[in-house]
Amino acid sequence: MAIGIPRARQARQVVLAAISVLAILMAIAALSINVVVTMRDAANSIDENRSLDAVASAVSSIKKRMAVTVRDNAIWDDAYAAVGSAESEAWINDNWGTTSADYPLYDGVVVMDSNGRQVAGYLKGEIFDAPAALGQDFVRQSLEASSNPSTSAHVGFFVLGDRVTMVTTLAIQPYLGKPQSPPYTLTFFKSLTADYIATIADDFQVKGLALGTERVPGQLDYPLNDAGGRALAHLTWPKLDPGTAVYERVFPQLVVLAALFAVFLLVVIDISRTALRRESARAAEATREATHDQLTGLLNRAGFIQAIAAAPAGSIVHLVDLDGFKAVNDAWGHAVGDKLIRRVGETLGTVHERVFAIARMGGDEFALIQPEDVDPQAVGARIVHLLKQPFAIDGRTVEVGASVGFTSLPEDTAPLEVVRRADVALYRAKEGGRGQTAAYSVELDRERESLVEAEQRLKAAIARDEIEVVFQPLTSAATGKITGVEALARWNPPTGPVSPEVFIPLAERSGLIDQLSQNVFETALRAVAEWPELDLSLNVSPLQLCNPNFAEEMKDLLSRQNFNPGRLILEVTEGVFISRPDRARRSITALHAIGVRFAMDDFGTGHASIGTLRQFGFDKVKIDRSLITGGNDAILRATIQLAAALDIPVTAEGIETAEQADFARDAGCELLQGYLIGKPMSLSKLRARLQPTSSAAKRA
Ligand code: C2E
Ligand code: CA
Ligand code: CA
Repeated sequence: MAIGIPRARQARQVVLAAISVLAILMAIAALSINVVVTMRDAANSIDENRSLDAVASAVSSIKKRMAVTVRDNAIWDDAYAAVGSAESEAWINDNWGTTSADYPLYDGVVVMDSNGRQVAGYLKGEIFDAPAALGQDFVRQSLEASSNPSTSAHVGFFVLGDRVTMVTTLAIQPYLGKPQSPPYTLTFFKSLTADYIATIADDFQVKGLALGTERVPGQLDYPLNDAGGRALAHLTWPKLDPGTAVYERVFPQLVVLAALFAVFLLVVIDISRTALRRESARAAEATREATHDQLTGLLNRAGFIQAIAAAPAGSIVHLVDLDGFKAVNDAWGHAVGDKLIRRVGETLGTVHERVFAIARMGGDEFALIQPEDVDPQAVGARIVHLLKQPFAIDGRTVEVGASVGFTSLPEDTAPLEVVRRADVALYRAKEGGRGQTAAYSVELDRERESLVEAEQRLKAAIARDEIEVVFQPLTSAATGKITGVEALARWNPPTGPVSPEVFIPLAERSGLIDQLSQNVFETALRAVAEWPELDLSLNVSPLQLCNPNFAEEMKDLLSRQNFNPGRLILEVTEGVFISRPDRARRSITALHAIGVRFAMDDFGTGHASIGTLRQFGFDKVKIDRSLITGGNDAILRATIQLAAALDIPVTAEGIETAEQADFARDAGCELLQGYLIGKPMSLSKLRARLQPTSSAAKRA
């Protein structure tokens, strides 16, 4: 039963493991994607920074190169001496103007005085008015260079014509020492042509570098600013995005990897699904094992309890017990017994189409549940009928039978209580004999309860020797003389006397009768020992008579008490001769042999028993009290005559009136017994009755 729970736990563990593996795999996949993308972006961004740095150094490098060129020309004693002298213009033209016509280091030259006026200007060898072409920004650059002579050139970018031009200015100074008065300035122009840009790009390894007035969308950009910080032009070049390039190169492999990963995932999912399915199948199998009977495949007790719990209120639960199964097992062996059990299980499946749970509760006990709207009495009768039919098993004809107890399923009642009720009903059915059906009722419960209680009290009473014995005299019909006494058991608990009609059957049913009788017999034998002329009648329960040891025990008792067996009359009712004739005969024969006599008790109440009387050799017959008090003289007379015809002396019991006594005497009864002659009495009363004079003398 409990096996199902760890199985379920195992299945849960499989699911958890599969989910964990999947989660880990997904995390690995996500991390991998993230790593690849990060590497791509990082590579892109590193390259971007590298090319930005390269362009920045390119610009700074061309600025430096111009600065060096202008310094070589401006800080020169010859130039300092010539510029501003009489031959100033000729010297400027010779040394710089003509050079500008075709010179890689600069395209133009301008010399300005310290007041911002141009002294001379050439562009590509031609005369050139720089302040007019470049404006105030240029003049300001020259004035600054003049007013604060230093060795570091002033560099600015200007637009000249449709070209961006680098303009580099330095004060013209002697090689050593400082200029005397505010110096002239020398300015070189270098036009940034496409070729020049291409060379730079080559030198600094920036592919696709171009100079334009606008930024190019999607490309990297380095602005060239004018003196006011405004972008004059833009150096632009395409991003290399090496990360993306690598990424694109490895992308097909990534796809393959992803595909492999997906396959792996699918395999993992499939494996865990299979494992899970196997695990749940195993769990289902375990549950089945825990709730089903192996032999029949029906539900077992545990399974049936669950079925009751799940059944709608009002459903009816039947308990079925095979009659005589033990005999089949004993006679034919367990193999046949098992087959019979299986066949009974199959048969129960055909009882009614609406029966919805069938169980083997253990041994030869079965159970089933039917809905409320099917007549349970009919279902019970059908079960009894079907199981009464002989079964052909291994070439043998095996006959059993069944008793059925049923109860309806009340709301909110524990399944075990329902089974108990059905069991109480089953017990009642079996009490009633084989092949019966009984319904549960609260009264049954109460009866059983008080029965169990009474049994316990009776047991205690016997153990404490609280069962007393009284004696009722029997008199000769002819002389009125007391010829014997009948010993009768009495139970007088504090709660009030209990009739032997109640406690004798109780003792019989609960297996207490042997012990009870033993006590009664011993007491009675001892009691009448003092009157050797009296017969003693003892009532013997049919159960006792059928006990194989009864005769021996009786003989023992007689010899122990040294009691003359010829004085003993055992009264037996006729029922025993119908149920167990052989055993009864054995006891009677054994005791007859030592002189014990037998009387048939309660004659006239049961079946015609003349045959029995003769067969078992009864010595006496006691006409039942009901015939005496019944008032039907014809029947009474006929019954007495019947016994008389067999030469068996007749005793009339229950004589309460003189008329009854007269009638019995006339009809030919030998002995009389009854309240008229004497009620059952204690030993002391009996003694007083038997020795009236002597006891009166004693008292006197
Ligand atoms: P029984 O053997 O037929 O005993 C006669 C019963 O009739 C006794 O009832 C007795 O008290 C009662 N009786 C006798 N004369 C009259 C009468 O004139 N009028 C009326 N109304 N009743 C009379 P008791 O003692 O209640 O016993 C009932 C039955 O219990 C007995 O019937 C006997 O079968 C059984 N029994 C009593 N004692 C024992 C015993 O020790 N062992 C066994 N096995 N059975 C016993
Ligand atoms: Ca009797
Ligand atoms: Ca009787």
